[in-house]
Amino acid sequence: MSYIELSNVSKSYDKQRSVLNGIDVSIEKGEFFVLVGPSGSGKSTLLRLIAGLEEITGGELHMNGKVINHLPPKDRHLSMVFQNYALYPHLTVEQNILFGLNAKKVDKKEQKQRLHKTAEMMGLTELLKRKPRQLSGGQRQRVALARSVVSEAPLCLMDEPLSNLDAKLRAHMRMEIRQLQKKLGLTMVYVTHDQVEAMTMGDRIMVLNDGKVQQVGKPIELYNKPANLFVASFIGSPK
Ligand code: ADP
Ligand code: MG
Repeated sequence: MSYIELSNVSKSYDKQRSVLNGIDVSIEKGEFFVLVGPSGSGKSTLLRLIAGLEEITGGELHMNGKVINHLPPKDRHLSMVFQNYALYPHLTVEQNILFGLNAKKVDKKEQKQRLHKTAEMMGLTELLKRKPRQLSGGQRQRVALARSVVSEAPLCLMDEPLSNLDAKLRAHMRMEIRQLQKKLGLTMVYVTHDQVEAMTMGDRIMVLNDGKVQQVGKPIELYNKPANLFVASFIGSPK
């Protein structure tokens, strides 16, 4: 049984046009699954459907074998990291990291334990009392990751989390995220429009164009056997 399964999922925001069409895909527990495609192809929409932030308009979404089309986000046991970090500027690093746990009324002692464990793992121990504006871009990104890690949710959804960073830092953070995912045994659904990022990070990759799945496979399969011209040119394989 797959952890997450989409069967014939479609989504339209209005009657004229559907943004996602007949999406079929299964994501396994512990997998680093990358969703790649050009801007406007429907990546963020698909991620938001999995998160429960948008309603599916057709098909079924399963988690652990159960249909969860209408399950509220808080009951899906997942965390999400966005492109723009979405840190609260008036809160300290510590308060930012603990925001979600506070909202869920996790008891204070456990909050402290999880905070210190997470801060240590993410190299943020010295920065806990700072405000976001006193941090570098990389440090801010790490706080956003820490906020997701501290939730201890088994499923993590990331929407272009590195696109605001410069190339060198991006390469470094790719590695950090990959290591973190392995270490915590997370199931990851990672959105990017960057082919290099997809090819270097993904256990498997799904290529999306214009709301339709073009191909799902391991990086090497996409490279050696692109399903169509779109995949070939997008991934940059010689065919
Ligand atoms: P991507 O993340 O791949 O760039 P999106 O999922 O953001 O793609 O968008 C896919 C399509 O859906 C685009 O044409 C976009 O304009 C449209 N779209 C996204 N969000 C909304 C919304 N809230 N209302 C109406 N249309 C939307
Ligand atoms: Mg997007």
